[in-house]
Amino acid sequence: MRAVDVIEKKRQGGELTREEIEFFVLGYTRGDVPDYQMAAWLMAVVWRGMSERETVDLTMTMARSGDMLDLSPIAPLVVDKHSTGGVGDKTTLVIAPWVACLGLPVGKMSGRGLGFSGGTLDKLESIPGFSVNFSEAQFMQLLKQHGIVVAGQSADLAPADGKMYALRDVTATVESLPLIASSVMSKKIAAGANAIVLDVKTGAGAFMKTEAEAVALAETMVRIGRGVDRRVTAVISDMEQPLGDAVGNALEVAEAIATLQGHGPQDFLEHCLVVAAEMLLLGGKCVSAQEGRAMLEQAMTSGLALRKFEEWIQAQGGDTRVVREPRLLPQARLVAPLESPQAGYIEALNAMHVGVATVGLGAGRAKKGDPIDHAVGVVLHKKVGDHVAKGEPLLTIHANDERLLAEARPMLLAAYRWSAAAVTPPPLIRRIIR
Ligand code: URA
Repeated sequence: MRAVDVIEKKRQGGELTREEIEFFVLGYTRGDVPDYQMAAWLMAVVWRGMSERETVDLTMTMARSGDMLDLSPIAPLVVDKHSTGGVGDKTTLVIAPWVACLGLPVGKMSGRGLGFSGGTLDKLESIPGFSVNFSEAQFMQLLKQHGIVVAGQSADLAPADGKMYALRDVTATVESLPLIASSVMSKKIAAGANAIVLDVKTGAGAFMKTEAEAVALAETMVRIGRGVDRRVTAVISDMEQPLGDAVGNALEVAEAIATLQGHGPQDFLEHCLVVAAEMLLLGGKCVSAQEGRAMLEQAMTSGLALRKFEEWIQAQGGDTRVVREPRLLPQARLVAPLESPQAGYIEALNAMHVGVATVGLGAGRAKKGDPIDHAVGVVLHKKVGDHVAKGEPLLTIHANDERLLAEARPMLLAAYRWSAAAVTPPPLIRRIIR
């Protein structure tokens, strides 16, 4: 078999056999298929798509490209959650300790920034000392000892996704249902959790722009998960505008900490409550989402969730002083407001524009392996439905480079649309597929 023939078959819209997918993907993982051939193949998949059978074969090939964890000796039920990618989506940082402090172990393999969307690993690495690189044995040990671990792909776990994900990030090959479904589910399956809550985003700042596309992605992932005996729930959530106020790695960590301390933005808190309650429900810790919410609210007000967050940060080598002193997180040199050129109600705040502008400030990568600037990003002061006066700050830009700051301004302004009449913000949760 030759890699070029597999690329050509997909380019022409052919349906690949399991053997062809295994040959190509495992060859890439070993280093026999080079980046340029994988990039060409990914682009062919973006254009031509894949059948459900191909998507399942791709997922299982990626999941089996390394070890598959069996977590049953550690806990009878481990829960995981995964977002399909958005802007300002720091949900894992809050809900992993929130759920774990209620006795439901959370073992999770996360990703880095992808295209205009942020990545949990990049956010966590803005905490000085925090490590996401663990062997299989270390992953299991952290889960056993602390009931919580969030790691990146390693040479052991789903290495095919690790390599393909980094390549997709910089080759404009993210927006594809089979590529997203296989990327998410291969990680979830390899990491061994028995219950998975999928947070499937829809809107301008999501890879699935319409609710119908998001539902199709969610249903495919739910079928893949159930096909390998996982309990799966999908929450379809809004990503027209960024989630919460902070966008950018360290800024998002600070907002996650504030949320666990009880003073986070309302939309972000509500989103976390919904997803975390679904995790408790799926993990058998409550009989209804309402009961789950009540348990979560109690864990937050008692300080239990914040203490679990500190335990988790310490267990993964991070400096827990950031919880009391957020200024120990990376800080940008230039902090500047973006003023509203007109008065009115905010009618739209395009999350993708905000994500692209933030990546431009240095929060994401232009090329594979590029370093990122953890300090940069934006903090939104006006979101959909808010009223703004002319000259009032819409947001604050955190930057480390004057030129990049100047370039970000028009991009960020273009994200906003104003209306003379009052505007109702879009619903946060579109639907839940249980
Ligand atoms: N999250 C992933 O892990 N992979 C994708 O392709 C998109 C979001």
